[in-house]
Amino acid sequence: MNFKSDITIIGAGVVGLAIAAQVAGQHKAVYVLEKNERFGQEISSRHSGVIHSGIYYPYGSLKAKLCVEGNRLLYEICQKHGIGYRKMGKLIVAASDEETGQLQELKERGHRNGAEGLRIISRRELNELEPNVKGVAALLSPATGIIDSHALMGFFAARAKEGGAEITYRKNVVGIDKLSGGYKVTVEEGDKDKFSFATRILINCAGLQCDRVAELAGIDIAKADYRLHYSKGEYFSVGGGKNKLVSRLIYPVPEVKFTSLGVHVTLDLEGRMRLGPNAEYVASIDYSVDTGHKDEFYNSAKRMLPFIEYEDLEPEMAGIRPKLQGPGEDVKDFVIRNETDKGLPGFINLIGIESPGLTSSPAIARYVANIVKGIV
Ligand SMILES: Cc1cc2nc3c(=O)[nH]c(=O)nc-3n(C[C@H](O)[C@H](O)[C@H](O)COP(=O)(O)OP(=O)(O)OC[C@H]3O[C@@H](n4cnc5c(N)ncnc54)[C@H](O)[C@@H]3O)c2cc1C
Repeated sequence: MNFKSDITIIGAGVVGLAIAAQVAGQHKAVYVLEKNERFGQEISSRHSGVIHSGIYYPYGSLKAKLCVEGNRLLYEICQKHGIGYRKMGKLIVAASDEETGQLQELKERGHRNGAEGLRIISRRELNELEPNVKGVAALLSPATGIIDSHALMGFFAARAKEGGAEITYRKNVVGIDKLSGGYKVTVEEGDKDKFSFATRILINCAGLQCDRVAELAGIDIAKADYRLHYSKGEYFSVGGGKNKLVSRLIYPVPEVKFTSLGVHVTLDLEGRMRLGPNAEYVASIDYSVDTGHKDEFYNSAKRMLPFIEYEDLEPEMAGIRPKLQGPGEDVKDFVIRNETDKGLPGFINLIGIESPGLTSSPAIARYVANIVKGIV
């Protein structure tokens, strides 16, 4: 078997595709294996679609660095390749005087992380910018925007194919065995017989299944602290023509442990408005929206957006976050590493790629390409 420069990527979400686009062309025989019929059917199509600026994440963390770099790269990619986006800016709104101290802390943290143009604005300026939003002050983040994430994935997929990569669907990776100088990957394809092939480098971008894929390679995921906790985020759409009443993304001050950024207002590229996501740890993947949560959404939105009426809200969709941070625990960073010290050189794991994973995707791709360079 010839292992030389074979790279196999498990998962065709935005992260796997971004990496494929980055490494194809530089390396021969790059394969992406995806268990679904099409790319981007899981986390990458059930999110807020926000290009974050890098405010919330601990200084020096991968989340902070890759988000700030990804923000810049995404706008460049969108401009150059005609991918839909709007750099409309975002406001984190303090609903009371007690919350204004947190705005200052967020501004300092974001500034240190490299988020551009952050500025605290007074109630008067908030009224001028967003007359329909209620608050005592706000943190303005002009570098925040929204993106057509499906078009972004299409771009990465096309780039990868141009570079010679092959993206194959209905390929469920069910076995990983170490060989000398690489890995044997076993794949299930519907009712057909399983097949195996060899790869020199194996990159795990399996999103909600990344811990299980790491386990397939023999990693003790409890010991490595790779076990995922699923956190569901639901969205409610806002009808009644209320979408015309704000022009930026509107967020509350986040809760202390940052398990989520708080139920916020997002607008999509068609101008549709929605509220969400909330955050609830769940045992399994289930995308239904609990209509019983409508009161919670209504009450938290009403604090900032007095114009919202109960009947404006309709359940829309849900996504699941692949979190390393369990209930009550502190924030955890992305894990992106070559597992040489676990006896698995050339096996690169990406674990816990929750938000800001979409924003960070082109920067994650560069980061992984550098790891790959160090191997080949
Ligand atoms: C509610 C919510 C809101 C979010 N909002 C934002 C936001 O506004 N901005 C932002 O930057 N980020 C946001 N994120 C985060 C962002 O969406 C994710 O970080 C990103 O989409 C993760 O992409 P991925 O490629 O790692 O995972 P996925 O898109 O899930 O891709 C993983 C792929 O691996 C495949 N796979 C899994 N196991 C196997 C196997 N054994 N064999 C073959 N294929 C396999 C899956 O089928 C899947 O297609 C949000 C996430 C959620 C849940």
